[in-house]
Amino acid sequence: MEKVVIIGTGCAGLTAALYTARANLKPVVLTGCMPGGLLTTTSIVENFPGFPEGIDGYELMVRMQKQAERFGAQIKFGCVEAIDATRQPFVLTVDGEPIEAETIIIASGAGHRHLGLESEHLLEKKGVTYCATCDGALPMFRNQPLVVVGGGDSACEEATYLTRFASIVYLIHRRDSLRASKVMAERTLAHDKIKPIWDSAVTEVLDVKQDKVTAVRVKNLKTGTESLIDCAGLFVAIGHLPNTQLFKGLIDMDEAGYIIPTRGAATNVEGIFVAGDCADAIYRQAVTAAGMGCAAAIEAERYLAARLE
Ligand code: NAP
Repeated sequence: MEKVVIIGTGCAGLTAALYTARANLKPVVLTGCMPGGLLTTTSIVENFPGFPEGIDGYELMVRMQKQAERFGAQIKFGCVEAIDATRQPFVLTVDGEPIEAETIIIASGAGHRHLGLESEHLLEKKGVTYCATCDGALPMFRNQPLVVVGGGDSACEEATYLTRFASIVYLIHRRDSLRASKVMAERTLAHDKIKPIWDSAVTEVLDVKQDKVTAVRVKNLKTGTESLIDCAGLFVAIGHLPNTQLFKGLIDMDEAGYIIPTRGAATNVEGIFVAGDCADAIYRQAVTAAGMGCAAAIEAERYLAARLE
């Protein structure tokens, strides 16, 4: 039986792993379907303290994993299929195998939000993508016009990154001002290869018949006029959805699926704690996720100590 099983290897999960490992609890850390979490899809991270020149997102996660492993964390590849919390120890089913755990820390993070268009779905991986750092350098996007949708930090980051490969990047946003942080927004709008298209929404991705992206249909939300923008790729960067479907009915969550802690990192189930983006609809930063991972680890440690008294 394991003392602590951590679900997720993003900033929250790996920080929880570091703290519980240093407390000699030998945590088992399940990678889930996206080892390293969303940060592995980011290019340069400039706002994680301690890296004045910035650090590559993937590199940061590799370092966090090594640091946790140095103190005894066991990283295990696998996705959780079910949790039985009606008994103690809890039983997690991971790729068909049961794992017993005295405590669980949920750090399952978030995934990319989709526009919800049928054509978007049909052309996914055929020019529609949710990650510029993963796909931007593909030959199909080189020296081509590209479209990014969104107005937050992610959209700005994606658009700026894509200027390395694209002939021009259209940044389509549904309002007339960016939600992104000031520094990011100013840098993006000042770039001579980025052309913002305000008050607009993508209503269709073309061309499903050709099985590749050739253009997007864009509607101006103020005037109602529609136009086509030729492009070889559509990069959707409109925020995230918490990865919490597995915990529905077991762990309390809000309407959007974000887990609601009862006190600190505790959930409504005694012995199950939560950290990071799956419980944070507000900040969603690498550093806040790491802080939440630390808090969940301390809570789990105290819970286990209290059971021995
Ligand atoms: P976000 O801040 O929630 O922004 C999402 C953007 O997508 C908003 O501009 C929103 O429009 C738009 N949007 C949402 N749903 C849409 C839809 N159905 N159709 C069209 N547009 C839609 O998400 P994010 O940019 O992914 O950032 C998430 C968090 O991560 C933020 O806290 C951000 O600061 C952080 N982050 C930081 C960095 C960094 O510092 N390096 C990089 C990436 C992300 P409205 O503005 O109209 O709501």
